[in-house]
Amino acid sequence: MNSKNDIEPLRSLSKEEYELLRWMFEHGLEDLRTFRPQLESIRAARSCKCGCPSIRLDVPVGAPQGKDAGETIVGDFAGKTQRGELVGVLLFQKAGRLIELEVYSVDGQIKGDSSEFGLPLIESMTLIVWEPIPGRPEAKKSTNFPKNE
Ligand SMILES: [Zn+2]
Repeated sequence: MNSKNDIEPLRSLSKEEYELLRWMFEHGLEDLRTFRPQLESIRAARSCKCGCPSIRLDVPVGAPQGKDAGETIVGDFAGKTQRGELVGVLLFQKAGRLIELEVYSVDGQIKGDSSEFGLPLIESMTLIVWEPIPGRPEAKKSTNFPKNE
């Protein structure tokens, strides 16, 4: 275990992280797909101490750039962990390079003895679809966000 002040060194993606990212590149919106060539060179480190599996992503200078359309979030998904916990997954980019994979509990219902939870299972993943709300140009609503049974 690392102490709270440690900055974790960058490491290769775990097989689970790699497969999840690959699935997201293949099933995300068009802009996200442009980041697919970065997958092989991504290095990662845990970015949060709360028990979630979020990781910061490091893409080396010189790697192919993805499309930076001005949006920080280029991937927006939801899924369920092996223990059935409902989680959201966000992919962040900056200047055409991926910087973060955030996994968050949707409803705080983490099972087990600790606050730790894992990555969602690929077969449970859903691309979140957002639609404008009539009369509220700044707001959007998701039409298919999964719910906990
Ligand atoms: Zn966290």
